Amino acid sequence: MFKALTEKLAQWRKKLLLPPTIAGLVIISSLTGILEPLELLTFDQFFRWRSQENFPFVTVPEKIDPRIVIITIDESDIITLKQWPLSDAKLAQLIDIIKQENPRVIGLNIFRDFPIKPGTEALNHVFRTTPNLIGIEKVIGDVIQPPTILSQLEQVGFVDLVLDNDGKVRRDLVSITSQEFEQKLSFSITLALTYLNKENIFPQLSNSSKDEIIIGKAHLFPLDKKAGNYINIDNGGYQILLNYRGGEESFQTISILDVFNQQYPQNLFRDRLVLIGGTAASIQPSFFTPYHHSYPTSGTIIQANAINQILSAALDDRPLLKVWSDPLEWLWIFTWTTTGIILTYLLLNKDSFQYNTLIKWGLFILSNFGLGLLLIGSSYLLFLQGWWVPTLAPLIAVVGSSVIVMVDKWKYLAMFDTLTQVPNRLYFDKVLEQTWLLNQLSRRQTSLILCDVDHFKEYNDTYGHPAGDRCLQKIAHCIRMTIRRSDFVARYGGEEFAVILPKTDTQEAKRIAQRIVEQVISLNILHSRSSTNNYITLSCGVASLSLDDESSPEVLIEQADIALYKAKEQGRNRVIIYDSSLVAES
Ligand code: GH3
Ligand code: MG
Ligand code: MG
Repeated sequence: MFKALTEKLAQWRKKLLLPPTIAGLVIISSLTGILEPLELLTFDQFFRWRSQENFPFVTVPEKIDPRIVIITIDESDIITLKQWPLSDAKLAQLIDIIKQENPRVIGLNIFRDFPIKPGTEALNHVFRTTPNLIGIEKVIGDVIQPPTILSQLEQVGFVDLVLDNDGKVRRDLVSITSQEFEQKLSFSITLALTYLNKENIFPQLSNSSKDEIIIGKAHLFPLDKKAGNYINIDNGGYQILLNYRGGEESFQTISILDVFNQQYPQNLFRDRLVLIGGTAASIQPSFFTPYHHSYPTSGTIIQANAINQILSAALDDRPLLKVWSDPLEWLWIFTWTTTGIILTYLLLNKDSFQYNTLIKWGLFILSNFGLGLLLIGSSYLLFLQGWWVPTLAPLIAVVGSSVIVMVDKWKYLAMFDTLTQVPNRLYFDKVLEQTWLLNQLSRRQTSLILCDVDHFKEYNDTYGHPAGDRCLQKIAHCIRMTIRRSDFVARYGGEEFAVILPKTDTQEAKRIAQRIVEQVISLNILHSRSSTNNYITLSCGVASLSLDDESSPEVLIEQADIALYKAKEQGRNRVIIYDSSLVAES
């Protein structure tokens, strides 16, 4: 009873320890950073899925943000204009045209750290008289000064972007504190806040959480070094994830030439956020984004995305991307691992055992594939809701754990007898060989008991084969419960069992064999046609060999077999020990 309980506990311990062990290993390896690049690629894929029409079916492509208009300057515009940089006069003219329609705010994403004559005075005048015009500067690394007048008027934001290790922009640097402890805001947040002023929306600090900033309906949280699937980012300043809307096609654009030629719909700029910026690679730095591996996106479009995410979050409830706390991410990985393991165990349970191996493998692959799809789908749905969660780590845990369970089961099937659940002949041969070698080294005796069910053919003939099977199961279990922890029982053949007893002399082996014989008869399995007893009985042959003999595992088996034969001959339901006189008798 106690032995059965400890055996069950050991089995369960193994099963219960598997999910935390595998989830733990995956979490530890993800903490080393090896999964980060792949998690980032999965993240990128989610952005691309979301931007595609009709795929996956849950996605509704996002509409163009009507609040933003981008005045683009591309290569062909520069060729037609025949000048770059634009002279101050041209720039002043451009801003004047836009101003005629009373835009809510104008963002000038063109560096103007020194005058470009002619027309400097005109541009300075525009700068001085346009309170809703925001200029740019670059503050990190190679500094680029802002236009002096706009700087004096505090109408400037920085355009520095932060890159991930793979060179892509996935984060938005909202603000930094300069070396002079001056708080500087980015170009995009400055434009967004200026736009929102008219809606009476102003940034507020949250009472509940330190560092949280509330802008209308938007709640901003700064990224920490290990945010989401990042492992050790430089999170200097105030950074948030960039929830892209898309590339240039996701925004309303008009070329600078059309503006100069006044070829645009009336009121295009009225009450809008107008962003003037180059999109030509020759005039505007470009960056890699989740959308493209091969060609970069202009900084202007990235700024437009950064502006849009604040406006849409503050006004429309479009989510900003957020991350879970570490414990929640771990729980997520653990839950998927456990689900994968349970699913694999369910597939491999005794009933489905009857399926042939091919079907079982097919089911195994299908279930893993299905669970993997469910996991990716869940992560993607969470992404649509604004959550960036681990995807690859749980996927590896799911696949890894079910492979481990499957291989474990496979090994079990190769080594164990499926009817009686004790080791099979193959396993027995291996263990006997090993025990033999070890006992030789430690100069100890090895004993072997061969057991054979008495009159079993008649039992089958009387009660049928299924009853015979159940009988064998009961006997196997009974032997297992009777032997010691160090002993090893296997199904040796049809209705024969063999017990290896390491470091055991003949007398001890005999005692154990006798106990087995007694226990089997006390199972009270009725056998009315047995000429030995009314109940099922067992005969045992015992042999022991020490290293002094010129012996081998084969000799041990042979001798136990001779003893077993004698036990049958002498009336069954008994134990006979081998000695050389038996050979002489037979
Ligand atoms: P003895 O007392 O001399 O050992 O007689 P016996 O009838 O037990 O021996 P015999 O070798 O003649 O018959 C063994 C029987 O065991 C024959 C076979 O049908 C049965 N057997 C072997 N494996 C299985 C099994 O997996 N299930 C069932 N139900 N019967 C089995
Ligand atoms: Mg037999
Ligand atoms: Mg038999």
